[in-house]
Amino acid sequence: MFFQFMGRAYRVKEIFYSLQGEGANAGRAAVFCRFAGCNLWTGRLEDRARGPGSCSRWCDTDFLGGVNYTLDELTAIVEREFRGNCRRFVVMTGGEPMLQLDNDLVRALHRRGFEVAIETNGTIAITIPDLDWICVSPKAGAPWVQRSGDELKLVYPQPGLMPSDLDLEQLNFRHLLLQPMDGLELAANRAEAARYCMDNPRWRLTLQTHKIIGLR
Ligand code: SF4
Repeated sequence: MFFQFMGRAYRVKEIFYSLQGEGANAGRAAVFCRFAGCNLWTGRLEDRARGPGSCSRWCDTDFLGGVNYTLDELTAIVEREFRGNCRRFVVMTGGEPMLQLDNDLVRALHRRGFEVAIETNGTIAITIPDLDWICVSPKAGAPWVQRSGDELKLVYPQPGLMPSDLDLEQLNFRHLLLQPMDGLELAANRAEAARYCMDNPRWRLTLQTHKIIGLR
């Protein structure tokens, strides 16, 4: 269970320091806090065909297991991981971080000088007023509830959720980013995504630069 008698506990798969590889913050140093668990896949190989969204078929993230931390433990680890005292930045990711993240944790990290970003699949409405950066990456076949934020990061291609399917006037994002899907078709996906952005300049190409340069 995610709750303990002595206060809330957060179940976290891993915490590590790297560069943000994707999206509008690409290149920025950040601590990544990967919460355990997702609402679109169990994380078990035998359940790949059973996720409520199609992303369970191609997800390459390990969010199974993890360790329980109290708020104080978690914020202390995040602070210890970051190098330097300025431009502190932490990215809440998963799995699906909205299953666990709350405003108490965001405020505690603010008190330690961090800007706090979230990368969410958009299936859960964000009710955390103090977040500094919201990245939504919706998944085909899954409900898409959170339709505003700082960046929309669409993995491409996803049949049933192509950029041409979207009514951009009904969305409220500052950045529209197309990210080629990793895997055997990566080269073709990159070429197609690049072509789409050239033909539709409201969209920007984003690559997973951390993978290209060998970072986590
Ligand atoms: S929402 Fe993200 S972490 Fe969860 S199964 Fe889909 S791709 Fe993986």
